[in-house]
Amino acid sequence: MEITIGQRILDANDQITLRNKQLLREHGIFTINIMGSPGAGKTALLEKLIDKLKPEIKMAVIEGDLFTDKDAQRIESQKIPVVQINTKGACHLDGQMIEWALDRLPLNNIELLIIENIGNLVCPAEFDLGEDMRISLLSVTEGEDKVAKYPTMFTGVGAIVLNKVDLLPYTNFKLDDFYKDIKFLDADAKVFEISCSQGSGVDALADWLTHKVKEIKEVK
Ligand code: MG
Ligand code: ZN
Repeated sequence: MEITIGQRILDANDQITLRNKQLLREHGIFTINIMGSPGAGKTALLEKLIDKLKPEIKMAVIEGDLFTDKDAQRIESQKIPVVQINTKGACHLDGQMIEWALDRLPLNNIELLIIENIGNLVCPAEFDLGEDMRISLLSVTEGEDKVAKYPTMFTGVGAIVLNKVDLLPYTNFKLDDFYKDIKFLDADAKVFEISCSQGSGVDALADWLTHKVKEIKEVK
């Protein structure tokens, strides 16, 4: 019985997500779902990307957070549209939450929408939010073993971003093993080594994303 109920919930999410996807397509919006642990640097990465991309691309953000609006306030200070979703403890975003958020965004005036998922390496990967691309963020302080331990988080993603590389000398993060595991799981993922605190590597990621946004506009 429980399995049947679980199945129904997933189907409902899929239907809403399909609608969201159509809505985003109609408006020519390229959508990214950023996933990663709490403290990996999702919001810090967003701030850096907004800095770089804002002059050229019309951006908006959906901020997933368990209880607070701390991250949304950080994004709001950059003067781009942001909608906060408080999941009140739920550990991932789903289609219904995204539908609610899309209803509150100026869709006619957005080219790139970035969704910051709840900090969690498990279930966010199981919920399609209608995104065009997923980006998984890992920081060197978490250890390279997370790729093999949480494979769904690093499979089928457009990019894997390794943050805090400035701390590599102070950790026992094994870069070789990290690349080996990624190659085994998801050879197509682009990998970017960055440091949000030092600002390094972000330009390459921003340039790559700019190309992606332009590609979708040309297809339209
Ligand atoms: Mg955050
Ligand atoms: Zn969850």
